[in-house]
Amino acid sequence: MKYDVIVIGGGAGGLMAAAAAAQSGKVLLIEKNHSLGKKLLLTGGGRCNLTTSYSTDTIIENIPCGGKFLHSALSKFDNEDIMDFFTSRGISLKEEDHGRIFPCTDSAETILSAFISELKKLKVNVILGDAVSEITTSSQRISGVKTAWGKKFFADKVILAAGGASFSATGSNGDGYRLLKALGHTVTPLYPGEVPITSSENFIKKATLQGLSLQDVTLSVLNKRGKSVAKHRLDLIFTHFGISGPCALRCSTFVQNLQKKENTSDVTVSLNSMPDYSAAELAESLNRRIYENPGKTLKSLIKKWLPERYGVFLIKICDLDEEAPVKSTTEPQRKKLIDTVLDFRFKVNGTLPLDKGFVTCGGVSLKEINPKTMESKLVPGLFVCGELLDISGYTGGYNLTAAFSTGHCAGTLNKD
Ligand SMILES: Cc1cc2nc3c(=O)[nH]c(=O)nc-3n(C[C@H](O)[C@H](O)[C@H](O)COP(=O)(O)OP(=O)(O)OC[C@H]3O[C@@H](n4cnc5c(N)ncnc54)[C@H](O)[C@@H]3O)c2cc1C
Repeated sequence: MKYDVIVIGGGAGGLMAAAAAAQSGKVLLIEKNHSLGKKLLLTGGGRCNLTTSYSTDTIIENIPCGGKFLHSALSKFDNEDIMDFFTSRGISLKEEDHGRIFPCTDSAETILSAFISELKKLKVNVILGDAVSEITTSSQRISGVKTAWGKKFFADKVILAAGGASFSATGSNGDGYRLLKALGHTVTPLYPGEVPITSSENFIKKATLQGLSLQDVTLSVLNKRGKSVAKHRLDLIFTHFGISGPCALRCSTFVQNLQKKENTSDVTVSLNSMPDYSAAELAESLNRRIYENPGKTLKSLIKKWLPERYGVFLIKICDLDEEAPVKSTTEPQRKKLIDTVLDFRFKVNGTLPLDKGFVTCGGVSLKEINPKTMESKLVPGLFVCGELLDISGYTGGYNLTAAFSTGHCAGTLNKD
């Protein structure tokens, strides 16, 4: 049977592409898992941070790799269109901090169900549990696909939406890159993006701070000369292997880049746990407290500033006694403590592997894809969308925005 369009992959990009393509043609969607949207269900901690309320310029800024390529796709289908797509299908959305948009149900199931209903309504034929093993061509044009179960399907247009190579248990295990390479495409080196950072510092190995989260802190990545090459302000969590949370994830690519650039495994990061205050302001606050409560311990004072566990940790690394009355501390000791609150430096030595990245960096070379249509410049009739493209953004709804926007663009099939 011949279809107008075959979509490979039933994740964020493929679902949006199938919904768009089915407006004007007969569509087959092939998903290797036995269900659709496995990764979509994991997004936003199961709540699906589907897009952002921020402007197109801000979206592009927050997609540091390949963001500019999205100008054209976003001009046709941007975050507002993504929100309209769902609200016009009866789904209420809400905005949280940093412009993040979620369904009001706080469940990614809501978003997936909307797609499933849409595909049913538009009579998209969905095949589950069979993987595309080859994209076939005839006279250098797309002719269809072959599957792992030996089935053949025919179409003049194929949309490849097989996802990246991280969280491979969700199905996106790098098949898409292999299919693209088989058709002569260039795939730039793959590495994990938005991935936790590892460290072999003693306090990490000893799990001193494991499980402790710090809200709204600043993490800077420093080069060999101590100059900051990246600085992000968000939440951070200490783990048994290093640091995670949005702030660490956002700095991870800069750690990897510095490791390569400086040919070293160790990179220094600086954590400012009170970024709204200067050293002078903290000194004044500490002196006031000493004056008002001379007998209080350092520990009881610092916990007014910071989570107690972190405060006590900083007191200890400054070689101070947390139970000593604060009046017994010297000026230089107090200065050292304040400096450490604002600039706690420690070494990190890399990141978790590709499979643990929230996004795969690298992908099909953007030079080989038409940004207006997502069509391959090498193989007419082949369209590529989602994480397979050499595009990766920060957390905050930017990666799903890219997948939905490029998916929609690919699904409208060459209608400039
Ligand atoms: C834990 C986690 C949380 C995240 N949270 C967010 C978030 O809240 N907001 C955000 O913007 N981004 C988030 N992301 C990133 C976002 O999920 C991805 O960028 C997005 O899903 C990419 O969409 P995609 O369609 O390209 O790929 P995927 O969603 O991975 O879909 C690809 C699909 O193709 C299928 N497939 C693969 N190979 C074949 C084949 N050979 N034949 C048939 N089917 C195949 C796969 O099984 C898969 O279902 C998160 C990522 C992770 C890992």
